[in-house]
Amino acid sequence: MITKSDGNGGGRDGGRGGSEGAGDEEAQVIVVGAGPAGSAAAVHLARAGVDVLLLEKSGFPREKVCGDGLTPRGVHQLVRLGIDIDAPGWMRNKGMRWVCGGHQVELDWPRLGALPDFGLTRSRHDFDDLLAARASATGARLRTHVKVTGTLTDRAGYVMGVTASRGPDAEPVRYLAPLVVAADGASARTALGLGFERDAKRPVAAAARRYYRSEARTHDPYLELWADLRCPRTGLDLPGYGWVFPMGDGRVNVGLGALPQQRRRRPVDLKAALEHWLPRLPEEWGVHEGNADSPLRSAPLPMGLNRRPQYRRGLLLVGDSAGMVSPWSGEGIAQAMEAAEVAAETIALALARPAGPRREHALHQYPAEIQRRWARYYRLGNLAGDLLFSRFGYRPILHPRVMASPHLLRVLARLLTHVSDEPAQDTVDAVLHALLRLVPVPRR
Ligand SMILES: Cc1cc2nc3c(=O)[nH]c(=O)nc-3n(C[C@H](O)[C@H](O)[C@H](O)COP(=O)(O)OP(=O)(O)OC[C@H]3O[C@@H](n4cnc5c(N)ncnc54)[C@H](O)[C@@H]3O)c2cc1C
Repeated sequence: MITKSDGNGGGRDGGRGGSEGAGDEEAQVIVVGAGPAGSAAAVHLARAGVDVLLLEKSGFPREKVCGDGLTPRGVHQLVRLGIDIDAPGWMRNKGMRWVCGGHQVELDWPRLGALPDFGLTRSRHDFDDLLAARASATGARLRTHVKVTGTLTDRAGYVMGVTASRGPDAEPVRYLAPLVVAADGASARTALGLGFERDAKRPVAAAARRYYRSEARTHDPYLELWADLRCPRTGLDLPGYGWVFPMGDGRVNVGLGALPQQRRRRPVDLKAALEHWLPRLPEEWGVHEGNADSPLRSAPLPMGLNRRPQYRRGLLLVGDSAGMVSPWSGEGIAQAMEAAEVAAETIALALARPAGPRREHALHQYPAEIQRRWARYYRLGNLAGDLLFSRFGYRPILHPRVMASPHLLRVLARLLTHVSDEPAQDTVDAVLHALLRLVPVPRR
């Protein structure tokens, strides 16, 4: 018997899921959402010979509110996916420039074994389109304009597929598969539908961005980050940072992200904070209303591994739907693509086992692997977020003494961006790994 949960809190309809219609499409795995998490999962699954359906509610290209910045970790994932990063449209950066309290430092990406020594920017308008096309070319069946509305489960609560509405007329359809990857972003509708609640103790940050035409900065070789911003209404430090990222196409992506203000326990007014900050940018950059190339848009940043477990009863959570945004930096693209690769590998290995307890055991290796790779890093980041960033922003860690010390800065930069290699490639990596080993592994 198939039951349906409607994406509004796990309710079932007692088996009124309906009979299999002629239009039902089947696969070994359904991936919900073709953002970086979903498309990357689909590429890796298709490559492993898994029959995969990738369902996306929008059409491509489409906009996604983002800073569009990738560190070397993200570049590494793109290469693994077979994306041609030498093609036109990619803007390379060689590091970060931190601006704080009248000082600024430029930090080049390190030369490490496996990771490239450059980052990239590309608007999500093109980026997500490229990734989805890559998934299609690799063999995944991409279905756009399909909005997943709920999950179908069997009597024991295991996933059997999803319900959806398709096309402009919202035609009701069903897609059937024994495994579903929820990669539907911050809304986490698929996960919520099966009762995967967010850890209420973990704050959800928010970020806003706007494009401006700026010939002066569009080819800047660094990702610029401002750490000494204030909330104009309260005068308190912004519990986050601002950015100016070069797009290489005549535009810059300007925005800021912030945790909820700890001392006020309420979200920051991002628009007011941005308006307060922009007049501080040099006049000749041209970052003002007359050069705006888009509206200001904002979206939540679910961070700190805030939805667990990442696997239960046939449903795997990847990317923002699992709250995988880094609590250190607010980045989520590389994290989503890395987790997608782990999920895909786990699924491929699990499908090689007969359905039943042995396959189930293999699928539980996904949260175990997430835990092994990233739990300590996120735990320390969550602590830093609670004690430091949400109260004082990034200003304390970019104290003038730290900014004057190349060694401290290098450790800090790698901590913030997780651009580090395993096993350690240099002393900075060794220090970072030693620090992380001191962090107790959180319970799953
Ligand atoms: C302002 C801002 C700036 C940011 N800047 C950066 C940055 O510079 N670098 C960085 O690494 N990260 C950044 N992030 C975070 C990053 O955008 C996310 O972490 C990342 O997009 C997560 O990828 P995802 O695939 O999990 O989710 P998403 O990118 O949100 O993709 C989810 C996909 O699922 C689809 N979908 C949703 N619901 C359904 C449904 N019911 N049925 C079918 N499809 C559905 C959506 O249309 C979408 O295509 C920023 C975020 C914000 C808000």
